Amino acid sequence: MDLSRKIEILAESAKYDVSCSSSGVMNNTRQGAIGSTSAAGICHSFTSDGRCVSLLKLLFTNACIFDCHYCINRKSNSIPRATFTPQEVADLTMDFYMRNYIEGLFLSSAIIKNVDYTSELLIKTLKILRYEKGFKGYIHVKAIPGADENLIEELGFLADRMSVNVELPSRESLKLLAPDKDPFALYKPMKQITHKKKELSQVPTLRKPASFVPAGQSTQMIIGASPESDHSIVKIAENLYKQYELKRVYYSAYIPVNKDSLLPAITTEPPLLREHRLYQADWLLRFYHFSADEILSENKPNFNLYLDPKANWAVQNYDQFPIDVQTASYEQLLRIPGIGPKSALNILKARKYYRLHLSDLKKLGVVIKRAQYFISCNGACQPGLVNDPEWIISSLISSRQYETLKKVNSQSRQEQLSLFDVERFETNKRKESRYAN
Ligand code: SF4
Repeated sequence: MDLSRKIEILAESAKYDVSCSSSGVMNNTRQGAIGSTSAAGICHSFTSDGRCVSLLKLLFTNACIFDCHYCINRKSNSIPRATFTPQEVADLTMDFYMRNYIEGLFLSSAIIKNVDYTSELLIKTLKILRYEKGFKGYIHVKAIPGADENLIEELGFLADRMSVNVELPSRESLKLLAPDKDPFALYKPMKQITHKKKELSQVPTLRKPASFVPAGQSTQMIIGASPESDHSIVKIAENLYKQYELKRVYYSAYIPVNKDSLLPAITTEPPLLREHRLYQADWLLRFYHFSADEILSENKPNFNLYLDPKANWAVQNYDQFPIDVQTASYEQLLRIPGIGPKSALNILKARKYYRLHLSDLKKLGVVIKRAQYFISCNGACQPGLVNDPEWIISSLISSRQYETLKKVNSQSRQEQLSLFDVERFETNKRKESRYAN
């Protein structure tokens, strides 16, 4: 098979893996002309300092021996199949790199023959790149659960980042939808990578071997293919961050690609808003010092589609507000909608020099239209606001947003309306116009 056809097939197969943020462009330029672009192959990822890097994103093979129900590459699907050789992936990476198209490689793989054999092929590819080609660029590679520990370790010394995909948020769903995978083997490579990194961090600098997974590990969970609640997904993410010190958990709205009685119908829209809420909750876990049980609970297990998780938390805990920005601690400031880690630090710095006034907050990076309902400044609140969580909810949601969300909600999950319902919204809007008059 010709190499460009392989790239087409294997870059297309890799697009469902989001454990590096990805995007693709397609324009109408004639094929072969300068500037013609293809959606396949190159994705963008973001470094911890916010830089955007381009990666060549490929699957080593899509000829999988497993039959996961949710996956386009499962063995029972009739799709074009292809497999690279290690030399081909190494050559491609170098060619793309030398032409300045990419800064690194994201290499994943389906299972060919068995998990050890697949891992050996990935190792061989990375060895050619690192030792024969002298490639020092960024490499993100998949660790294959169930592979021999020595192979995982060898891969870890060659790659910058590794990821082990959790795929589904519970063992029960895994057993049902990924019958060939061992749910108990899934977390083993994560544990091994964490332990090895810790062990190496204790070795004196002079004796340190080559760096081991220096950019840490990440994972991906598919959202909406199985029935787990948002609360259980956020809890799993919290545990993964704590136990395995993961750099990122990625959430991927399930795109129905297979007709299967165990999965949502093929016509179902991917739950994109739910995915968005999960990313917002993930930020609350990582940067805002929230716990999963504060964001959601057993009683309210799913996100409110109308409000982001932080605003939702604030209105549910309105007894803790208003918070006075002149005296609040950093932790308290982080709880206020419209204030992020940067603006919280700006407030702490500014108030060392002068007494704050509400009009100063915008300059310090506070999003006033969100924060105004939850703050006071030296005892003064924004005039004209009503001290009522329900009024605040309806003020935070614009009518246009409401219409869009109503549409999205009717297409997805009715049961997510935990805090809010249409009747209540309209009553609040009526109340609001009464107050305005
Ligand atoms: S192991 Fe499962 S999820 Fe991975 S490529 Fe094969 S069928 Fe798809």
